[in-house]
Amino acid sequence: MVDLIVKGGFVYDPLNGVDGERMDISISGSKVVEDLRERDAKVVDASGMTVMPGGVDVHSHIAGSKINIGRLLRPEDHRKDVVPRTRVTRGGVGYSCPSTFVAGYRYAQMGYTSVMEAAMPPLGARHVHEELNDTPIFDKAAFTLFGNNHFVLKYVKEGDMGRLKAFIAWLLRATRGYAVKIVNPGGVENWKWGRNVGGLDDLVYNFEVSPRQIITSLARANEELGLPHTIHLHCNNLGIPGNYETTIDTMDAVKGVKPKDGRETNIHVVHVQFNALDGDSWMNVRSGASKIAKYVNANPHVTLDLGQAIFTDTTTMTGDGPWQFRLWNITGNKWVNSDVEMEAGAGVVPYTFKMNNPANVIQWAIGLELALHIYDPWRVYMTTDHPNGGPFTWYPTVISWLMSRKARTDIMLEMNKAVMRRTTLANVYREYTFGEIATVTRAATAKALGLEEKGHLGPGADGDVSVYAIDPTTWRPSMYRDIEKAFAKAAYTIKGGDIVVKNGEIAAAPQGKTYWVDAKVPEKADAEMMKDVEAEFRNYYTVSLNNYPVEDAYLPAQQVLSVDGRRGW
Ligand SMILES: [Zn+2]
Repeated sequence: MVDLIVKGGFVYDPLNGVDGERMDISISGSKVVEDLRERDAKVVDASGMTVMPGGVDVHSHIAGSKINIGRLLRPEDHRKDVVPRTRVTRGGVGYSCPSTFVAGYRYAQMGYTSVMEAAMPPLGARHVHEELNDTPIFDKAAFTLFGNNHFVLKYVKEGDMGRLKAFIAWLLRATRGYAVKIVNPGGVENWKWGRNVGGLDDLVYNFEVSPRQIITSLARANEELGLPHTIHLHCNNLGIPGNYETTIDTMDAVKGVKPKDGRETNIHVVHVQFNALDGDSWMNVRSGASKIAKYVNANPHVTLDLGQAIFTDTTTMTGDGPWQFRLWNITGNKWVNSDVEMEAGAGVVPYTFKMNNPANVIQWAIGLELALHIYDPWRVYMTTDHPNGGPFTWYPTVISWLMSRKARTDIMLEMNKAVMRRTTLANVYREYTFGEIATVTRAATAKALGLEEKGHLGPGADGDVSVYAIDPTTWRPSMYRDIEKAFAKAAYTIKGGDIVVKNGEIAAAPQGKTYWVDAKVPEKADAEMMKDVEAEFRNYYTVSLNNYPVEDAYLPAQQVLSVDGRRGW
């Protein structure tokens, strides 16, 4: 690996307070260093261009059983996007359920170098890691599903925080997971009986615990263990008009949970676009985004991501089985339901967001309203919840909407005006700066994830750099097509010191790292919890406990983050 100097670009590095200054970035080995002599390094000419840390996607679905069901379910999705091989790359298929290789290439082409798989069912962990290993270039991690797990429900019911924490630590280690993911807590368990929960205080069958208890217990356990990321929560009542109230109630429920030392936040709420609907039916649905934004602006313990909707044909997939059943009822499209032992489930339904569908127009506006009404870009992150709101390949278009009111107005002109009045978007003038884009796509996401070597360009950071062929000093918001073009095909993407993209084309496809979290708990607590888990497995599971721990062979490039969870015992 040769040393590199990315020379003369306009650098946006918000974590280090750099906002468009012309400066050089030096990379030696795989890391950013103070500086290098030009004669000792290869020079990447970035003059007149925009330089940012590599993109960090906080929430996407790229590996594991759910995306694989989507791949199998949708041959029509592949036929329209066949990707031939090149000298460097392997062939594949793309669009809403891209094959592993294509996902790696396409993220890199946009300048992304780290991507989080947001839902890993414990029993499917090996499959997730096999696919992540198959996905080239970017670094990754997977979030283990906890919100409807038998043992979580059991320990919450018993009020046993010690065993709950020991179980979280064990399951993260066993599945090589990175964070505590919660999907429709309680609702997915009730789905086994054909039911759901309708709010924070409904009860889960047989356990008699509420979503509120599950969420607050997991948030408390998460913070006491000192995990690098907060709980990562998909709220109850997704996709149901009026659900903005549930979302605010949920954020408020954890307000009293003390964040771990050095962090102000204790909850990340995902793809809020789907959970910010006002009104009481699809006939009178309107945007509840400004109410959520108002809450977030006043409450520093919350972060969220958009789940921006895109007008395109896509494939929805979520661990929220009862919601996907409902969506199947609404659309009549194909549908797959999958239940995973006593711990999780999923549903998959193809879906097309249409500009002549009032509900879809409102959903589209909500994502942008959230981004534009929340003042602090460190707490609202750009995602499409790929592929739920739309494929990640639309990120450059979302960036153009955030940076240019004209981009928004031009598309709004094609929409029904009466429908647009059920949102506030037409009256919003805010336009994101380059620095704010760098914040919501890499700096803030890396910070929220606790990935200290990511999302910035200071010495010691990973040598992940994106260079975009756009001059921020002459660009104006009216030129939004240029932004879209520049962010779609990076001039250079550098990953761990390797040039992986040049002029928008893949130049190399190295293997990325997989991060996971090893939380230490007292040995006695671990032993007591394991004894209970083993007994329950013998009594109730159809598979043996030995199917769970993922062997090291599944993670040839693993990076362990160790945390000491014993302090809060
Ligand atoms: Zn998701």
